[in-house]
Amino acid sequence: MGEQGSDGGRETEKRTEKAPVKKKTTVSATEGATANGSTRATTRESAKARGAAGTKPAAAKPPRTESRTALVRRARRINRELAEVFPYAHPELDFENPFQLVVATVLSAQTTDLRVNQTTPALFARYPTPEDLAAADPEEVEEILRPTGFFRAKTRSVIGLSKMLAEDFGGEVPGRLEDLVKLPGVGRKTAFVVLGNAFGRPGITVDTHFQRLVRRWKWTEETDPDKIEAAVGALFPKSEWTDLSHHVIWHGRRICHARKPACGACPIAPLCPAYGEGETDPDKARKLLKYEKGGFPGQRLNPPQAYLDAGGRPAPPLDAA
Ligand code: SF4
Repeated sequence: MGEQGSDGGRETEKRTEKAPVKKKTTVSATEGATANGSTRATTRESAKARGAAGTKPAAAKPPRTESRTALVRRARRINRELAEVFPYAHPELDFENPFQLVVATVLSAQTTDLRVNQTTPALFARYPTPEDLAAADPEEVEEILRPTGFFRAKTRSVIGLSKMLAEDFGGEVPGRLEDLVKLPGVGRKTAFVVLGNAFGRPGITVDTHFQRLVRRWKWTEETDPDKIEAAVGALFPKSEWTDLSHHVIWHGRRICHARKPACGACPIAPLCPAYGEGETDPDKARKLLKYEKGGFPGQRLNPPQAYLDAGGRPAPPLDAA
């Protein structure tokens, strides 16, 4: 999954490729501990109420002495809240099979998923299988991939991984981490995207959003993606890892931006130790929200069937009238 706007954390090469719910749990306004351990009205309902009233959300205090148990509860509560806000969070790359997903994920380095989604139809129409792409003329592939940036390196990666798939894996994308990371341009992050979304195997995707947000939330102080993956993974059941990754990434793309987080319109502000890093005025914060493209959720041009079955509604902006 690539980037929207400034989230340029994807890497075609392995140097930064690392590794990753959808619960409908409704949390009552007074349930559970907040970041500083107190009981407080919180969550989307209260955030909406504050936004509607034009008042500033109460700032959460840093969890200076937060116990392990309190951290786990707060982390899981944040995930539940985000699952309510983004009930159909999913990978924002269009794909129809594991081969398309691994290629699209490699192409998403340093560009938006939307750009990749605009590019891959022509690529997969011309080269529908690993064997086709393995035998491709690199110059032709470069021309197709040019809009995604770094197109020469990306061409080398996708042709290289296609050759390996054709020669070593019978033309199929392997469903094991240790095999996936052998593919050119594929590191742990891309591998977990593929495992989680094409094979249904839980994984944590530590992209640039994920790294930023979990540190803001004091889920971990680690900076190394592998250590972040391990630290965050320990806070959640494995079965939640893939959806957790989607929720965090969607929140990072839409609300908790790198430079201007929209704290005043954030549904998890009462659970966030970093509340106040961004704009806290609700009206100003709402203007910072980034939402869907072209009426579809996320950046997909070919939305997943589950989304269409649910009525095909765009994800509702927070505090929308
Ligand atoms: S937008 Fe602000 S309050 Fe919300 S998660 Fe980010 S830093 Fe915390």
